[in-house]
Amino acid sequence: MSAPLYIKIKDQDNVAIAVNEIKAGTEVMEGIVAAQDIPQAHKIALEDIPKGGAIIRYGVVLGYAIDDIKKGSWINEHMLELPMPPDVDNMEYGTNIVTDLPEPPVKTWEGYRNPWGGPAGTRNILGISTTVQCVTGVLNVAVEKMKKELLPKYPNVDDIVPVNHPYGCGVAINAPEAKVPIRILRNLAKHPNFGGQLMVVSLGCEKLTVDMLIDEADISPENVIVLQEEKGFDAMIDALMEMADKKLKILNERKRETLPLSDLLVGMQCGGSDAFSGVTANPSAGYAADMLVKGGATVMFSEVTEVRDGVYLLAHRCVSEEVEKKLAAEMKWYDNYLLNGQVDRSANPTPGNKKGGLANIVEKAMGSIAKSGTSPIVEVLSPGEKPTKHGLIYAATPASDIVCGPCQLASGIGLQVFMTGRGTPYGLAIAPVIKVCSRNDMKEQWPDLIDVNAGPIATGDATIPEIGTQLFQEIIDVASGRKQSFAEKYKLHNDLCIFNPAPIT
Ligand code: CA
Repeated sequence: MSAPLYIKIKDQDNVAIAVNEIKAGTEVMEGIVAAQDIPQAHKIALEDIPKGGAIIRYGVVLGYAIDDIKKGSWINEHMLELPMPPDVDNMEYGTNIVTDLPEPPVKTWEGYRNPWGGPAGTRNILGISTTVQCVTGVLNVAVEKMKKELLPKYPNVDDIVPVNHPYGCGVAINAPEAKVPIRILRNLAKHPNFGGQLMVVSLGCEKLTVDMLIDEADISPENVIVLQEEKGFDAMIDALMEMADKKLKILNERKRETLPLSDLLVGMQCGGSDAFSGVTANPSAGYAADMLVKGGATVMFSEVTEVRDGVYLLAHRCVSEEVEKKLAAEMKWYDNYLLNGQVDRSANPTPGNKKGGLANIVEKAMGSIAKSGTSPIVEVLSPGEKPTKHGLIYAATPASDIVCGPCQLASGIGLQVFMTGRGTPYGLAIAPVIKVCSRNDMKEQWPDLIDVNAGPIATGDATIPEIGTQLFQEIIDVASGRKQSFAEKYKLHNDLCIFNPAPIT
């Protein structure tokens, strides 16, 4: 069997995407000849589309033709007009509740249970929280020394991570939306991988005071160092080293144990997407997500601007009116947030997305949603909130990779699965990231950065369940510490860009 030239998703689609570059004059299917070269992953018109006519992929209207489009033509991002975003006020809920989910091959994993319950840790890390960016320089020097002099004494501890961030001062701390960055930082301080060992570094005069970051009961000289109270640099480093040593000693006693999947919380994200993302990498992630949910685990997906155009599809999967209403509220909040910046969701796609064949945000969203699989949505969270339920969760966050990551970490993910089409070396310091690529070319380009290749689905050499099951196994192995993802192995991680929708002063 020769590899297919194109991928058409739904019967009603009037476009298909090119598996590889299609040369002008190639007969793509009976009666359809490429009118010009069609770049890999880009769309070809399967019929004549008149000016104003709908361009349909995934069975949904991606947009309307700006001019007549002849059958066999390349359709690029300049040729279609964006439709109106779907209304969120009158969405149906509970009309698509799928319970027939794929059975996972295993139902346990090895993790670090925490005394307060909730999702278990996938790593054993000393996390050092900060109230403000001002302490970063001193803390980084201390952490380097800790890693050299202390960490080798405690072989059961994986890492020491300073939770450095740009928030904390010079901000409108009482603005209503300041609750978002504060909630994120509070929840990060108690990330499941930190084992409840609080260590907070404060400057002393900042707006985000220690009592805003941790509970009153936790504020003590055992947990908090205030740099302005130390006599000079050496004393600061000594104090940090002494506290870290005590915390590391306790963390070193943590042990992995066999746990049910209900103690595992996994996040899904995509970045640098292309037109294959929605047919290979994201559906594979969706299949793995369904297996996790079936096994009792909790899976969250996010990225508001990348679900906005398919939000009604998510509403149909919400288990109750309450969940659907929260979903609608999060969408409206984000619509307003964008409106205040005088943009809309069309500001999302990047030049790389477009080069990868994604014409607009509708097409990107349809592919993006595929990562959520088919499970019912049991809860919707505001950015950085912690889940209270098991199952599939929609956690509203920006789609920006480096902002979504910290939001999901604050929600408690022990691992993130990251799908990419164009490629990014993205990583997180607090939890491992598994990268899944959408094309064989991407895996060949970055063999030592991409953990799972979903490309063979496009060429007909693998199925979504096969790659999905492989990814599920990878998730279990990495979460259990039996395996490191490439990003973890090379210690690749981005800065913690905390979502701050409130003003900076
Ligand atoms: Ca993203």
